[in-house]
Amino acid sequence: LYTVELVLENEAAMIRFAEDIALALAKGDLVTLKGDLGAGKSTLARAIIRTIANDDFYEVPSPTFTLVQSYPELRLPIAHTDLYRLSSPEELDELGLDEALESGAVLVEWPQQGEGVLPAPTIAISIDHEGDGRRLTMEVTAKAARRISRSLGI
Ligand code: ADP
Ligand code: MG
Repeated sequence: LYTVELVLENEAAMIRFAEDIALALAKGDLVTLKGDLGAGKSTLARAIIRTIANDDFYEVPSPTFTLVQSYPELRLPIAHTDLYRLSSPEELDELGLDEALESGAVLVEWPQQGEGVLPAPTIAISIDHEGDGRRLTMEVTAKAARRISRSLGI
């Protein structure tokens, strides 16, 4: 497991980071996004999806109530899920994330809610407040390390 830590001073920096991550993503990648309410999980997920869509205004509705929003039409199909309202880990099976991983990549906000059922992430991101910006800690599996480090230029 490789750990990368970086400070993103503002939302624009967060979006640039998301663009780099998005271009490195591949079929089968599971990206988890941890952080308190307002940390920037959805900002990051939305920017990843818009980069893959190659459209800055691509509609990315919040998956808070539907639990999952799917984008099967993208070059790399994406399933974006927010497990905050998951009532039991078993409910995860109904979201179709296993199938989504077979055809594309999956982004999961609040992965803690699916602990024990959710597969191991390829990229695990934690976001914390740091001043007016954010500190981002990212753990990457060996499988994705080269792609990610190349894309981030580190
Ligand atoms: P979450 O999904 O984690 O609840 P959101 O993405 O909905 O959080 O909201 C995050 C808020 O923080 C947004 O208002 C966004 O503009 C802001 N934000 C995102 N990234 C940064 C950053 N790196 N520095 C400062 N503010 C940020
Ligand atoms: Mg959110």
